[in-house]
Amino acid sequence: MSTPMTQTPASEMMKLLDDLSIFSAPGSGVTRLLYTSEWSQAQLFLQERMAGFGLKVETDKVGNVYGRLVGRNPDDKVILTGSHVDTVVNGGKYDGAYGIAAAITAIHYLHETFGQPLRSLEVVSFCEEEGSRFPLTFWGSGHVTGMYDGSEADTCADSEGITLRTAMAECGYGSSDDTMNQSIDLIKRDDIKAFVELHIEQGILLEKTSKQIGIVQAIAGQRRFTVRVSGTANHAGTTPMNMRADALTGTAEMLLLLERLAGEAGEPLVATSGRLEIIPNTPNVIPGEVQFTLDIRHSEAEKLERFCTDILSAFNEIAAKRGLTMELTPRLSAPPAPMNSELCHDLERICQKQGRSYRNMVSGAGHDAQLFAPRCPTAMIFVPSRDGISHSPAEYSSTEELGAGLEVLTELLYELAYKEI
Ligand SMILES: [Zn+2]
Repeated sequence: MSTPMTQTPASEMMKLLDDLSIFSAPGSGVTRLLYTSEWSQAQLFLQERMAGFGLKVETDKVGNVYGRLVGRNPDDKVILTGSHVDTVVNGGKYDGAYGIAAAITAIHYLHETFGQPLRSLEVVSFCEEEGSRFPLTFWGSGHVTGMYDGSEADTCADSEGITLRTAMAECGYGSSDDTMNQSIDLIKRDDIKAFVELHIEQGILLEKTSKQIGIVQAIAGQRRFTVRVSGTANHAGTTPMNMRADALTGTAEMLLLLERLAGEAGEPLVATSGRLEIIPNTPNVIPGEVQFTLDIRHSEAEKLERFCTDILSAFNEIAAKRGLTMELTPRLSAPPAPMNSELCHDLERICQKQGRSYRNMVSGAGHDAQLFAPRCPTAMIFVPSRDGISHSPAEYSSTEELGAGLEVLTELLYELAYKEI
């Protein structure tokens, strides 16, 4: 039995978002870190809400929560939609939670209006995506898509030294057998026909261009490096300017070149150096060594690779010219994740039919959808974020903006689950 819908879908979704935001650690905004008591309460609350709407509720060993509206062809693969329930520290109430609240509401509405679907429709509340408590990300979708095998549960610990396995066990998840070396059972799923994620943009493009809906064409690939530039630390007073091997001025030349070439490469390429360590970092000593990070993103693998190769060889030239040495350590290589082009076209058609303004765009931020994209047709829908702000208590999107995304999601789910193919 399902609780009837007594209000508009948008108000039901907003109520659900408000209710969910209560599950937070004290402090400003929403803080809901993986396997904390507020996280547990949120996942239990969602299970109750899903069950109240007549969905078949299940959890898996890492604490992902599923609610399924079983289709008439139960052997058919599942249409999955949802997002992550965890937040950053002092985050907002929309990042992740919106995708879950909208998915539950959309399925509730479709069930009430059209009855049982042909194919099963399922909402997922992924346990973790942000990497806020443990030094890994995508702990939820990473299991579902086979990126993790569970061995990380013993090797990863939070800042207080609590391992993932211990934290999981405290919430009643993980293995029932507490022998230390047993790996978490694989919970990879091969029964997913399509995955759809609705999310706030977390950028300023939709607001700046006055569009209601962003149709994500691809999630940008990322390359990260650490660069170590070594010169000679020496006395700031006694070393003439033409006899120096200053690692910091060499780094400065590299970073200005990075900015210029990234600008010339054009959108959607972005390149950032967010952290520098200067050794010895003393006012009267010429810097002998600098270590800095590089974060480079693009939606096309070839262009991303070419930019990285070009910039790193230019860095080498700068180092050689200045009598410095350079050492490079790759830190991350995540390929771009193109979304399914047919689903992108479906979304364009739906926006046109609903009379909504929309634009095609690339997501510079990572999302659960990027793990599904290589495995099944995957789509991602954005709505505007006020001032482009997210990961902050100031994160905000209006009811109208969130409601527009809900209607687009609902229509796409209808087409995927109710229509004969
Ligand atoms: Zn998110």
